[in-house]
Amino acid sequence: MRHITEFSGRRERVAESFRDLKIDAFLVTALPNVRYLSGFTGSNGALLLTADRSLLFTDPRYQTQAPLESDCDVKIAKKALLSEILPWVNRLGARRLGFERTRISFETYDFLKRNAKTSRLIAVDDAVDQLRMVKSTAEAATIKAAVELNSAAFDHALRTFKQGMTEVDLAAEIEYRMRRLGAEGPSFETIVATGPRTALPHAHPTAAVIEPNELLLVDMGATVAGYASDMTRTMGVGRLSPKARRMYRAVLESQLAAIDSIKAGIASSTVDRSARNVLKKHGIEKWFIHSTGHGLGLEIHEGPRIGRKEARRLEAGMAITVEPGVYLEGFGGVRIEDTVIVTKNGCEVLTPTRKDLIVL
Ligand code: ZN
Ligand code: ZN
Repeated sequence: MRHITEFSGRRERVAESFRDLKIDAFLVTALPNVRYLSGFTGSNGALLLTADRSLLFTDPRYQTQAPLESDCDVKIAKKALLSEILPWVNRLGARRLGFERTRISFETYDFLKRNAKTSRLIAVDDAVDQLRMVKSTAEAATIKAAVELNSAAFDHALRTFKQGMTEVDLAAEIEYRMRRLGAEGPSFETIVATGPRTALPHAHPTAAVIEPNELLLVDMGATVAGYASDMTRTMGVGRLSPKARRMYRAVLESQLAAIDSIKAGIASSTVDRSARNVLKKHGIEKWFIHSTGHGLGLEIHEGPRIGRKEARRLEAGMAITVEPGVYLEGFGGVRIEDTVIVTKNGCEVLTPTRKDLIVL
């Protein structure tokens, strides 16, 4: 009997969908999907899967690493990966070759079209991404470790806060703490915004000094063993205006209502609506200009999307963020974000960081 690993089990699930997808071989080129299905963590790799073969192609830099990480049959390509892969497509007799429609470049598609002479190319939408949405127990534990490390880095960095610090200073402190605590690095560029810049949902940290009596927004994530975490906290430095405090209370109420609505079986849009309804009650729904959350895992943004029109039903084991926010141009913004795991009857909030207004 063949030994089933975490990775071969996932490949078997992909192979089970070959009939529905009307393919007999699948070329996986998106690196997070390659990693998910093979264990390989290198920066150049592709997988060719058939019902009974799993070939992992990479280049000579990874000839030692790839067989250590992966249970696939490793092929080291001396030239471009595709020129090594195509002869195998022919050798394995793949008539209908699936490729990842949303993940390949036009150049790759063009190359395949011109050179895959004996195979028909079939666009596959998101077969692997669908599988990745529901996390295994081991994956959920890794995400939890990433979330907890991220919160610890936040606490350590805040302890170093002092007057005169700039947005960049605090962002650098946060990323340094992540590394010292054992993260591979940030899951995305840390956002630190102060004053009216908190109204920019994706502000890049600048040399601006973090001023007293203003809002301060930090959005950060640490990667641990390949898995992302994501958290936003909006704080006050000194005394906040009553208006800023009202915004904070409304967003917190909205975030808690959204978390409360989560359980397996409901549509993603229900979570979004729960967040939006609270903001509507406070008359600030129009300041909420993005969706309520997103899945995360090997990538910081993956399925499912938690948005207004998302009909997809939540399933136990999905890891998602809940992050309503309101942004008032020229004044400032408030966003509060946690990472949660969907369960049968609710969800487990992984983020341990407090959510009452932190005042520095
Ligand atoms: Zn975030
Ligand atoms: Zn997020």
